[in-house]
Amino acid sequence: MKKKIFKDDNSSFKERALKLANKEGFYVAIFLCITLVATMLVYFVNDNASNKDIANKDTAIVEQETTDPVDNTNAIIDEDTIGAEEPATETATQVDKTTKEEEPKTEEPKTEQPKEQAPQSNTNLKDMVSPVGAKEVVMAFSMGGEPVYSQTLQEFTSEHTGVDLKAEEGQEVKAALNGKVTKIYKDGKLGQTIIIQHSNGIETRYSNLEEKVAVTLNQSVSAGDAIGKVGKTATFESEDPSHLHFEVWQNGKCIDPSEYL
Ligand SMILES: [Zn+2]
Repeated sequence: MKKKIFKDDNSSFKERALKLANKEGFYVAIFLCITLVATMLVYFVNDNASNKDIANKDTAIVEQETTDPVDNTNAIIDEDTIGAEEPATETATQVDKTTKEEEPKTEEPKTEQPKEQAPQSNTNLKDMVSPVGAKEVVMAFSMGGEPVYSQTLQEFTSEHTGVDLKAEEGQEVKAALNGKVTKIYKDGKLGQTIIIQHSNGIETRYSNLEEKVAVTLNQSVSAGDAIGKVGKTATFESEDPSHLHFEVWQNGKCIDPSEYL
């Protein structure tokens, strides 16, 4: 009996123990699962945070490197994408965006050439301003018509392709119309000369200037802009009173400027 009871007791103990073990095992399993999930969550959050720190440090490095003329940035960004995964690639694209945004700003001043449009406007000879202010003519225009007397040559000539406007030596000479400087040269007869091209086939020429001029080749000028000073460089007009030799050409023919001054 005792044995039996013991056996029964033993078997029932085992059963109970097993049941208990099963029950507790179940709870333990759940507990372990929860702790595992919790640890994973904590680890994941910490890992993410540390990744962000790394990423922030990396952006600082990448930003410094972009100022370096040597192209090391690509290598650094590649290393980052392998090590820090998503945050690093994000920063890489951000760096690309910022560098792209900065580029157009540096190019803007190069495109700013508002004066280039000046010759595009329609040139009207009636808008002409006197290059020396005064309109007093020392020697008139003559082209095959009525001859004019040259004090320098001491003879009449019917080949004076412009007008000699009275002006003091050293006086400022101004552009008569909006245009572009196409030639600066020393003429054998008329001395230091500037040619300005306007629209509608019109050209103005300024001679007997000082050798030092105030404009450069291809420079755009507006009517009234100073281009040089009256000199004494025209050998064929050296004995005439101090003046500017001024010519106006239209479609390859010289015309009398005094009609428009
Ligand atoms: Zn002249």
